[in-house]
Amino acid sequence: MKRIGINSLSTLKTESEITQADTSKGYILFDSDLKVFSMDEGAREMLGLTNQTVTGCFLPNLLKKDAYKILLNCIYSVIQEDLFVQEDIKVSEHPVQWYNMIIHPIGKNSYSLLLVDINQQKKLIETKRKLQDIFEGSHVGIIIIDNKGKIIELNPAAGCIFGVKSEKLNGENINNFVSKTNEVPLKEHWIHLLKYGKAKDNEYIIIRPDKSKRIISFSASKNIYEGHHLIIFHDLTLQKNIQDSLIIERNEAERASKTKTNFLAMIGHELRTPLNSIIGYSQVLEEDKREPLTDKQKTRLAKILSSSRHLMQLINNILELIRIDTKTETINANIKTVRIKSAISESLQAVKSNADDSDISLHIEKDVEDISINIDPIRLQQVLVNLLNNAIKYNKNKGTVTLYWRVDGRYLAIFVKDTGLGIPFEHQENIFEPFYRINHPSYNIEGTGIGLTLVKQNVLEMKGTVGVSSIEGTGSTFWIKVPI
Ligand code: ADP
Repeated sequence: MKRIGINSLSTLKTESEITQADTSKGYILFDSDLKVFSMDEGAREMLGLTNQTVTGCFLPNLLKKDAYKILLNCIYSVIQEDLFVQEDIKVSEHPVQWYNMIIHPIGKNSYSLLLVDINQQKKLIETKRKLQDIFEGSHVGIIIIDNKGKIIELNPAAGCIFGVKSEKLNGENINNFVSKTNEVPLKEHWIHLLKYGKAKDNEYIIIRPDKSKRIISFSASKNIYEGHHLIIFHDLTLQKNIQDSLIIERNEAERASKTKTNFLAMIGHELRTPLNSIIGYSQVLEEDKREPLTDKQKTRLAKILSSSRHLMQLINNILELIRIDTKTETINANIKTVRIKSAISESLQAVKSNADDSDISLHIEKDVEDISINIDPIRLQQVLVNLLNNAIKYNKNKGTVTLYWRVDGRYLAIFVKDTGLGIPFEHQENIFEPFYRINHPSYNIEGTGIGLTLVKQNVLEMKGTVGVSSIEGTGSTFWIKVPI
């Protein structure tokens, strides 16, 4: 079989190569005026001319515009230079249709044109090109080895991971290469991987020829084609370095935070002792019948007592927050069977003087069910006292606080409703965060932003939930739901 002369678009193919690979082909015979004098069924079908008279037609007119030009060029080369010409020609765009054509003289003033359908071939070439681009451009290292570990193919990323030009690795045995350059030989790992489908460990350190270290992971697919295996390498070095520095930063931050917490806890405990003395001696003075205080002194002493109690409350809250935050000492739940009403009344009693001072009336809703429940009454009281104090503190003049509850067999839900300032919607989610306070410019209400955090933490320790619904300017209802 002859190779054919001029070719600009495709690689040269022999006629038999083309006809063997493809199914449809067709012959056209024409003269030097490009008039068709014979066209077989195959050619008619390929050019969509089955029902048309073609004998005597000008050959280029039977083709589409682009194909027409290519055909003319080729035909003139054949006629003028008496050469064979082979060319790939696209005869339609939708659907894409490629033919290979071979034109050669077959006698005086006659020429033959062989058309062969090469669509399949074109598609294969396109797919191969795309795969090649993916292989070359991929950021993961790809190596194909044979049964003996010889590197058959590798992409540039693989060479980059191993710090060697990919051409240098081609043909090398991966076992030699790996054992030469690695702290931990990879050989056994990839063999294990190919055998069992998973690697022994997740990450490996490799030492490159320039002595730099890379942390890699890899996976493999056995027998991607006969006796050939695919190994895919990921370079984790950058990711690992970032992770390591984040861990170091986090440890440092934790250490600094622990030092601050310890300092705060120490100061808190130290302050409590003198503060207890101030409160204790103030109470002694207040109740001393033998040397009674004047009214003026009583008023001043009341201020000392109220400020000291406020300070004590603040210190206790901070210490409680530290305890919950660091989980240093977990207070064991002290579950008891109690009547709901008496457990809740105790909380109301604890805030009564506070409410009286602020002219706020406290109520328990009528007709609430009074049954026995299993609960930690001390923790419950801590939570309710906090919510009630807030309901008093953020209430309006002569406002009310109403407490009610619902029981559904497994849960107790308690509601603390006030007629106070209310909470703007955008703050409602945040008020349970430590130190979060809403600025009420016209009220100037004292606080630390810890109370609701403690409520939430305590409720969580009771395995319950907490929430609020509120309308700004009308009032708020805080609720807790705890298992009983
Ligand atoms: P504190 O009262 O010490 O500021 P809390 O954690 O108890 O801290 O409350 C956080 C914020 O939530 C308060 O600053 C207040 O703005 C708002 N808040 C809490 N309870 C109420 C309430 N019953 N009515 C209106 N606002 C409230």
